[in-house]
Amino acid sequence: MNPTNDPSLTSWVASAQGSEFPIQNLPWGIFSTEGDERRRAGIRIGDRVLDLDALQAAGLLDPGLPAGVFATGTLNAFIALGRPVWSAVRARVSELLRAEVATLADDPVLRTRALVPVEAAEMHLAIAVGGYTDFYSSREHATNVGRMFRPDGEPLLPNWLHIPIGYNGRASTVVVSGTPVRRPLGQTKAPSASAPSFGACRKLDFELEMAAVVGRANPMGEVMSVEEADAAIFGWALFDDWSARDIQAWEYVPLGPFQAKVFATSIGAWIVTAEALEPFRVDGPAQDPEPLPYLRQPGRMNLDVELEVAIRPKGGSEATVIARTNFAHMYWSTAQQLAHHAVCGCAMEVGDLIGSGTISGPTPDSFGSLLELTWNGAKPLTLADGSTRTFLEDGDTVIITGRARRGGITIGFGVCEGEVLPAPVRTGW
Ligand code: CA
Repeated sequence: MNPTNDPSLTSWVASAQGSEFPIQNLPWGIFSTEGDERRRAGIRIGDRVLDLDALQAAGLLDPGLPAGVFATGTLNAFIALGRPVWSAVRARVSELLRAEVATLADDPVLRTRALVPVEAAEMHLAIAVGGYTDFYSSREHATNVGRMFRPDGEPLLPNWLHIPIGYNGRASTVVVSGTPVRRPLGQTKAPSASAPSFGACRKLDFELEMAAVVGRANPMGEVMSVEEADAAIFGWALFDDWSARDIQAWEYVPLGPFQAKVFATSIGAWIVTAEALEPFRVDGPAQDPEPLPYLRQPGRMNLDVELEVAIRPKGGSEATVIARTNFAHMYWSTAQQLAHHAVCGCAMEVGDLIGSGTISGPTPDSFGSLLELTWNGAKPLTLADGSTRTFLEDGDTVIITGRARRGGITIGFGVCEGEVLPAPVRTGW
């Protein structure tokens, strides 16, 4: 076992013990504070954010790290240093935070400067996202959508069990958790209508996903094996691929989703590293037919991460949990998705995002979208305040949380949330 994952480790940061951010987690984010507007790299420990730039300035990190690498505004420059550096910095931070290590614990001035209370840290998008690709890799989700959108055909199209199906999303509208999301305008046409119409989306939805951050560039024209792709992943964050179902249903044939998906995609502020998630690797569902050789997995490449979605109505203090599922259900793993993406010669950049696709489980209370939970509006959900939902209403906040648990240790991902704002008002086109 990697020593940083040892469940017996404890930290002198008292709030870490028993929290979702124990010393075994150490997720990365980008933050600023009221007194220091620079966006810099932080690692979450308990209810504190550890300022990596302050640690570096104090000479507590490897002197071989490039000066200022934690204060460039995103994590890309650090991630580009490669897996051995990610691992060495994690090992050093784990050491500095360990209960029996006094270096930082017994330096009150530096400790105050380097450990920021989480409520004083404003979180920012941690990555400069060059490319964002979203997959469609939950068999349960693809089957449910197939049944609704193509009721007369086979729910899974013939390629689905052979290819991790995906499309190129829009990096420019990836936003950090907490950013409000405006209801999109668009063109729709109900099957019974004789002509399309234009207006505010009436079937606004979320998609419960995880996003992997690509940590190693792959030059154009070169390929990666599944094993190499697995080693190229820096970590994972919670992800909400907001979707406009009425726009999607009218536009998606023949080239797939376009406007229905590009108005907003939210990502959690914290990226949990692949190293922290090592103890949570599990086998995915059996793949039958066996994938072609370039997609075969040499080991366990799914992750046991419990996921939950809740809706909090406008002005209401109580959020209602509407679905619980697990990342382990995915038919195609992130490593298979990335290997497939690169195999044609597509260049991959550090900071590219690989969206898992909606994560639905086998039971109706484990579906990862309202489209499935309400069966396209036919079965409304009732929230704690007594109101019902088929799709999202203005003022609703969608709240995604996730955690991996084993041996008394919980590795939390924080939250990925966003409030729905009304559509723009414009007349006179
Ligand atoms: Ca999606």
